[in-house]
Amino acid sequence: MKEKKNIAILGSTGSIGTQALDVVRANPTMFSVEVLTGNGNVDLLIKQAIEFNPNAVVVADETKYQYVKEALNPHDIKVFAGKKAIAEVVEMDSIDLVLTAIVGYAGLESTLAAINAGKQIALANKETLVVAGELVTKLAKEKGVNLYPVDSEHSAIFQCLAGEFHNPIEKIYLTASGGPFRGKDREFLSTVKKEQALKHPNWDMGAKITIDSASLMNKGLEVIEAKWLFGLKAEQIDVIVHPQSIVHSIVQFTDGSMKAQMGLPDMKLPIQYAMAYPERIKSDFPRFNFINYPQLTFEPVDTKTFRNLALAFEAMNKGGNAPCVLNAANEVAVEAFLKDKIGFLQMSDIVEQCLQTIDFIAKPSYDDYVATDKETRRKALQLLN
Ligand code: NDP
Ligand code: MG
Repeated sequence: MKEKKNIAILGSTGSIGTQALDVVRANPTMFSVEVLTGNGNVDLLIKQAIEFNPNAVVVADETKYQYVKEALNPHDIKVFAGKKAIAEVVEMDSIDLVLTAIVGYAGLESTLAAINAGKQIALANKETLVVAGELVTKLAKEKGVNLYPVDSEHSAIFQCLAGEFHNPIEKIYLTASGGPFRGKDREFLSTVKKEQALKHPNWDMGAKITIDSASLMNKGLEVIEAKWLFGLKAEQIDVIVHPQSIVHSIVQFTDGSMKAQMGLPDMKLPIQYAMAYPERIKSDFPRFNFINYPQLTFEPVDTKTFRNLALAFEAMNKGGNAPCVLNAANEVAVEAFLKDKIGFLQMSDIVEQCLQTIDFIAKPSYDDYVATDKETRRKALQLLN
């Protein structure tokens, strides 16, 4: 019998994390959970720990340590707290694969630590590649670590590349649903509230990525993510709006042939593909039926209305620490929008102003990224007031 894969799930209490645990629950002979981490949602973290009996649990929020420790006292589970502890537990010998499902820049340090320790990575935390793609991919190469994409578009590209790794890519098309505000103009967008932005038509996700999807920043982050994952140039990456979210992305090869990966929108599929690679696991997920979708449609993306995508391309072309600036400014802007402090369109304004004013560093070190993130947050917070 094959040995189980021991998995560390960073961000197990989130949307991706809980769905990853659904995959483990459905395949108990294939996976075992070695580490779980959460931040504020400690009751769920405790519940997960009792069900999956990991070796260790880390709560990022140190003020919650005592509460988690006491709850897990009767169980043989180690409990740690703090950001540093997440970056330390991923080094445990017993871990085979680390699923990085913490949201935002907060996931960078632990992802780098896991790669440094030679762990295979199922990568959900796209911000890691946006902030420090060059550093992360270089380290992964040095350590012989594979980065298996969890993001549905990148999983689609990865699946299309199976058996094609030596054939050059001419171009990829990342599909975008267009989000809840597809077809709307700037006047309409100037009035929208978080409740509207949080209603994604096809996907049920964490709050930050749902806002990013509504503003198209998510697609911008994904363009940069694709550049690093697949070693592409800007002109090889195109975005096409596909409101049904059935075609998850497309690869075009140098002979003109195009391969697409399709399926109903359900993150469990790409999560499980990344966890089980190179195997495909039999599942009972609902199947796509062509007759229910007689029309799959495609349209160009409106970057005049949704400026974030253009800003992301600009940051990617500029390179250096510019994508790190883009990401940090966006994280602050999204948080402010979620707290009703700024309007929907102001999010792009903040990102643009930070890109224009933060000092450019062409070849940033890890410390430069940390400093850029900090400085950009300071600037973005200033712009809020
Ligand atoms: P959620 O907000 O649902 O979950 C985020 C997770 O990270 C939670 O476990 C949360 O803990 C934890 N967390 C939050 N802040 C910190 C912190 N400062 N330190 C440590 N842990 C923290 O996000 P999603 O699951 O939606 O997204 C996770 C990542 O996956 C993102 O990078 C996103 O872009 C990417 N992704 C998500 C998709 C989706 O369908 N959801 C699709 C494609 C990519 P707690 O809840 O306990 O506070
Ligand atoms: Mg995606």
